[in-house]
Amino acid sequence: MSTNLSDLLKVCAGCGSCLSSCPVYLTLRDETYSPRGKIAVIQAMEEGRIPPVEGAPVLSYCSLCGGCESVCPNGIRTLDIFAEARSRWGRSLLKKALVAGFARGIFPAHLFTSLGALFFPEKLPFRPSLKPFLSRAEEFYPGAGRGRVLLFVGCLTNRFFPNHAEAAVRVLSHSGYDVLVPKGQICCGFPYLSLGEKEEFRKIMAHNRRIIDSLKPDFITSTCPTGMTTLRRFYGYENVRDLASLVLQGKGNFNKIPLRTAWHDPCHLKKELGIWSQPRELLSSLSSFKEMERPELCCGFGGSFSLSHPEISFSLRKEKRKYIKESGAEVLITACPGCIMFLGSFSPVPSLHLSEFLLRAMK
Ligand code: SF4
Ligand code: SF4
Repeated sequence: MSTNLSDLLKVCAGCGSCLSSCPVYLTLRDETYSPRGKIAVIQAMEEGRIPPVEGAPVLSYCSLCGGCESVCPNGIRTLDIFAEARSRWGRSLLKKALVAGFARGIFPAHLFTSLGALFFPEKLPFRPSLKPFLSRAEEFYPGAGRGRVLLFVGCLTNRFFPNHAEAAVRVLSHSGYDVLVPKGQICCGFPYLSLGEKEEFRKIMAHNRRIIDSLKPDFITSTCPTGMTTLRRFYGYENVRDLASLVLQGKGNFNKIPLRTAWHDPCHLKKELGIWSQPRELLSSLSSFKEMERPELCCGFGGSFSLSHPEISFSLRKEKRKYIKESGAEVLITACPGCIMFLGSFSPVPSLHLSEFLLRAMK
């Protein structure tokens, strides 16, 4: 990650090609909160034209979804810019304490359920696991010699959706891969990066890298696209692969499930990792798949963004709900624990992680 803010800022031509990809701008329709608006504010703070006390509040209006970066004709690294700007001007001790409490397992997971009950007006769409996945997983699951895949579990999956990780292990093993689940792995660190806590992020990255490098896997995967993005983009691993791609290259047999499905593109999976055709290929062959309108529209979660700006998050989620309902699908399939948690029971139909869908198709 480049940290020379002046250099990073130079490349923005202010063309506006990114506006229609920014969920925050599309919700607020205020140029200040568009990608180029935020970049202009950061530039002004960098050059001393705006005092940080005036400019810094704008920095929180970004979920780091990567939408602007994926369409920018100038290849501007917006995630690097926003993370660096937050580390200088936008750090929040309260958010850091919350993130640390969750990612390190200091707070009991049930505390988050209680907070969630206040935050979610509907029935809670998730229950924390009393036994996190990593505390009960084996470190090695044999396949059939197709390659060694390291499963990076991630904090949300570990504590709230161990079923995603369990399904992924079985699906990968069924597809012929040996699966490695190192117990010492911890949160990928993205929540810290998003809060501008670069030093904390570097420590976490160094810890996880030591473990991953000692095992030398052929591939690294995760049921969390933010984790995969972090491992590829910030840790620098080129061998990160999503589950759908691994399954398509594997040799497992899957049966068709007689269900009408729709697919929601998690932001980091499509916009950062460029994965969109692979899950559709699987769903088209294994179910009655129909594309819904605006499948790439952000669900509204964005990690701690949904705590800072619930009005934007809830508005996006409401729009998403409309498209899911209109699709006529019986089940919504996606590949992100954050999207599943946030859409949850607010979705008009059940949401399944792709790993769970594939597990059912194995039977
Ligand atoms: S970030 Fe890229 S797409 Fe957006 S205004 Fe700047 S140059 Fe244009
Ligand atoms: S990363 Fe996403 S939310 Fe942030 S400015 Fe870019 S498009 Fe908007």
